[in-house]
Amino acid sequence: TGDIAVNEKALSPRRGGPKNLPIAEVLVDDEDCEPMREQKDKPKLVILGTGWGSVAMLKELVPGDYHVTVVSPTNYFLFTPMLPSATVGTLEFRSLTEPIRRIVSRVRGHFLKAEAVDVEFSEKLLEVKAVDASGKEQHFYLPYDKLIVGVGSTTNPHGVKGLENCNFLKSIEDARLIKQKVLHNMEIACLPTTSDEERRRLLSFVISGGGPTGVEFAAELYDMLNEDLLKSFPRILRNEVSVHVIQSRGHILNTYDEALSVYAEKRFEHDQVEVLTNARVKEVKPDRILFSQMEDGKSVTKELPMGFCLWSTGVAQTELSQKIAKKLGDFQTNRHALETDTHLRLLGAPLGDVYAIGDCSTVQNNIADHLTTFLRGVAFEKGKDPDKVHLTFEEWRSVAHSVRRRFPQAAAHLKRVDRLFEEYDKDKSGTLDFGEIHELLVQIDNKLTSLPATAQRANQQGQYLGRKFNKIAAAIPGFRANEVDFGDLDEAVYKAFEYHHLGSLAYIGNAAVFDFGGLNFSGGLMAVYLWRSIYFAQSVSIRTRILLAMDWTKRALFGRDLMSE
Ligand code: FAD
Repeated sequence: TGDIAVNEKALSPRRGGPKNLPIAEVLVDDEDCEPMREQKDKPKLVILGTGWGSVAMLKELVPGDYHVTVVSPTNYFLFTPMLPSATVGTLEFRSLTEPIRRIVSRVRGHFLKAEAVDVEFSEKLLEVKAVDASGKEQHFYLPYDKLIVGVGSTTNPHGVKGLENCNFLKSIEDARLIKQKVLHNMEIACLPTTSDEERRRLLSFVISGGGPTGVEFAAELYDMLNEDLLKSFPRILRNEVSVHVIQSRGHILNTYDEALSVYAEKRFEHDQVEVLTNARVKEVKPDRILFSQMEDGKSVTKELPMGFCLWSTGVAQTELSQKIAKKLGDFQTNRHALETDTHLRLLGAPLGDVYAIGDCSTVQNNIADHLTTFLRGVAFEKGKDPDKVHLTFEEWRSVAHSVRRRFPQAAAHLKRVDRLFEEYDKDKSGTLDFGEIHELLVQIDNKLTSLPATAQRANQQGQYLGRKFNKIAAAIPGFRANEVDFGDLDEAVYKAFEYHHLGSLAYIGNAAVFDFGGLNFSGGLMAVYLWRSIYFAQSVSIRTRILLAMDWTKRALFGRDLMSE
């Protein structure tokens, strides 16, 4: 059409949709190529995002069953669990990334480096925004038969002022900026013109958020300061450098087993990483951070001079997810994530057209119903009439323990029920019947906002959808677009999605903690090697594995790479 620079071959002169935009008709790169031509009639599968969920799905799909187009502003997959190591030069940035075109080519798909901005559900059109060669924004529609929303999440500002004075850690660019800032501060601290007070401020590193990302970054930073930087910057004294973790809850790593949180805190105490618990950041100024902390039951405002602040306090919805949720109105009531059914179909969208996976989504899984059914089953197995059964506190605990493994997202809330039960137990008969338990569990459901926002979950959901889509294609002879009503095929061909929690792990500075749902483990060097080998095994390709092995060897022989790139 001349007015779009995305892929002229792919655009038809047709315009349409509510905004009368050009429509990217069929993306066929090479008409002479038989496999490409074949795809023309296949159902158009559009996948948004190149993160854990989308890539897991792409790796499962049988090539040729669908006409696949991936849309994302990021043209690589990022292995996020090891991103904190890249901020301090332990690993190189390229060792954590895999070019997306290499992954997409396996399914003979297409990739558009662009951003999805809206969805017209009734017309099955995705509005896409791309920047052309002159830097101008171009909008067009991409038609789909099936759309997968895997756009992840953004940083949660929690309404705090001054976040422009913070660094973030979500992308390779973020990691690069952190490395630059840390090294810049070290260099300025060494100048003869820098006063002692200013030097201490520049070398005060604050991490806001005591979850796995914040804790791992603090650990990596501490390692780098101790093992490499102080050697390279002999003017800087160890006691001039400080690392502080500000955590709003009572413990860091609060989604892990408490023994592991305590182990991590002790380790940090030994390494002189200050952990400030029950503290809430109020404002981040260019040179200091203001926070409130509970002291003797009172909230006291304090301030900490700082030269660097990492903001790592949880996730929020992307603009696209917010727009979709708004469009779907009453079907989408969760403010934190797009709600799907247990087949990962987006609630409110035409059945079987749109799916949501990974951090941007949450499965409406009615834990209260699941758990009460489970409890009834337990009672039935014991030969008791479920309607007459009363569970004692100890019985409740043992059942709660077994469900914790299946529903790890409910763990924190189950602890609340434990506490409620204890309180309840003081004044009542010492038992709860199913009606009462169900009532408590409904409270949990209402409080439960999302499944854990982890690579583990996104990966499982992507794999699940890939397998299901293969089954759908296999179930229909001569599988063609427009001839298939996808509506309720999901249930006919495949089971509902079930999350299997495989455990959580975190690096805490020459030591690591593992929480495998009851089977916990923490320790020094051996644990670190175990931590590394788990991630090494999960890494996406032989290429990234070789690069990781080379980085670790290089670091052991020559220390970290301390140049800002
Ligand atoms: P993402 O991986 O975030 O990918 C989202 C994709 O969508 C990106 O490619 C993005 O460019 C694209 N996108 C965004 N907006 C649009 C749009 N409008 N249109 C098209 N594309 C769009 N999890 C663990 O399980 N273990 C860990 O140890 C761990 N460590 C972590 C460490 C760090 C530093 C971070 C940041 C996260 C960590 N996580 C970990 C969490 C994990 O990375 C996320 O849960 C996971 O990335 C979610 O996958 P996803 O596919 O939903 O989204």
